Amino acid sequence: MATVTEPRRETQRTFQTQLLIDGKFVDSRSGKTFPTVNPATEEVIAEVAEGDAADIDLAAKAARKAFDSGPWSKMDARDRTRLINRLADLIEDNIDELAELEVLDNGKPLAEARNGDLPMVVDVFRYYAGWADKIHGQTIPVRGNNFTYTRREPLGVAGQIIPWNFPMMMVAWKWAPALAAGCTIVLKPAEQTPLTALRMGELAMEAGFPNGVINIVNGFGETAGASLVAHPLVDKIAFTGEGNTAKIIMRSAAETMKRITFELGGKSPNIVFADADIEKAVDGALLGIYLNQGQCCCAGSRLFVQEEVHDQFVNRLAAKVQARKLGDPFDLKTQQGPQIDKNQFDRIMGYIAKGKEQGARVVTGGERHGDKGFFIKPTIFADVKDDMDIARDEIFGPVLSVIKFKEVEEAVTRANTTDFGLAAAVWTRDIAKAHSIAHRLRAGTVWINCYDVFDAAAPFGGFKTSGIGRELGEKALDNYTELKTVTVSLD
Ligand code: ADP
Repeated sequence: MATVTEPRRETQRTFQTQLLIDGKFVDSRSGKTFPTVNPATEEVIAEVAEGDAADIDLAAKAARKAFDSGPWSKMDARDRTRLINRLADLIEDNIDELAELEVLDNGKPLAEARNGDLPMVVDVFRYYAGWADKIHGQTIPVRGNNFTYTRREPLGVAGQIIPWNFPMMMVAWKWAPALAAGCTIVLKPAEQTPLTALRMGELAMEAGFPNGVINIVNGFGETAGASLVAHPLVDKIAFTGEGNTAKIIMRSAAETMKRITFELGGKSPNIVFADADIEKAVDGALLGIYLNQGQCCCAGSRLFVQEEVHDQFVNRLAAKVQARKLGDPFDLKTQQGPQIDKNQFDRIMGYIAKGKEQGARVVTGGERHGDKGFFIKPTIFADVKDDMDIARDEIFGPVLSVIKFKEVEEAVTRANTTDFGLAAAVWTRDIAKAHSIAHRLRAGTVWINCYDVFDAAAPFGGFKTSGIGRELGEKALDNYTELKTVTVSLD
């Protein structure tokens, strides 16, 4: 297999397709490869090295060695800061190329990748670079003539398994706090989007991370992913993806008592009251569901609209949705690209069919766009009832369910009637109402008069089946540290 492959289109350079193990790019032990597909054209972009248990074993051993005895284990925290900042600088220097590669592999609109995903990737690395030398323990007053203090030590080897919807952003959310804390990493990117993580691996090597600190093994979930979860030298699994996969991971991780953090799905309620700034709420509803082709775990897929403004709200929203530009994700005017692959496309079209069958009204969309690439028209269903499949299940596509409500109590109760609890939003000019509802919504993030506002410093994660633990912010450092208590007798 060739080390590098000529890209088919906009990206001008060759790109990496091998595995990164112990500081070197190598073929998989089996020599197997798998194709990665451009979802806009359905063409194969490249054959990528397919890792499995044997490669995970090598990567885990390299990460273990780097953690236990490599230069990384002795490095001053402030030098970790320098390395993480250097990686952030290199990403920024290559921001256009990285954005194009992300678009090629994932299909998201270039404007979003370039102006949304990538700047946050850089910001997340810089934010955590600043934390590396600020991870403190405490001194603790105890009984007797003893001196007790705590240390927050790096957890060890972190196995990180990520999805395809925000490939580079997920790398940043996973790597940055782990590196700041002093962990070493084995990353398993999603099989649909293997390319940008490898490019970030190249940049990490250029930045000067010691061998074995960052390892990347592409491959499939049931093979590479499952062996990472089972590996005895791996201390922790950080996973973002589907709830059902998380349950499999949790069962397997129990054998070695691995620490786990999960960021999973959602069916997030977006609640619009009649006293809201309607124009702003329309834009928020649109962003909330259609960002990233609806492939967001926190998508505002249940839109609750108060009766008095319901009809005008739906009309205004539909007008904006119909004006959305779908098509070539490399066109800077494109607002919506294709879904990631045929599986997702079929799944979403299945939900659209169910919505129609179960009596919801298609306001706009409800069908595929064009006949090539996995494009689906942005779809609005109105007259949605709480027990319909489109109101209950995470669709992970550009499909909005609009639900009419009358009263505050009713909105809160119905919004909370879900097993998910990732995010929610409230739109109203009444600030007391907004806060009191925010406190009662069972979700890890509540946006008031906004949607999808993320920040490197603001924790994110789920209540209920939407996850375990939090990413981003100071909180994420807990995911990558162990607390040690040291007591000294002063007698
Ligand atoms: P999605 O619907 O986003 O693809 P998945 O949970 O299937 O959600 O995939 C997210 C990530 O989990 C991917 O990197 C995938 O390869 C990985 N994965 C899937 N199945 C398993 C498994 N059994 N063990 C470990 N990782 C898995």
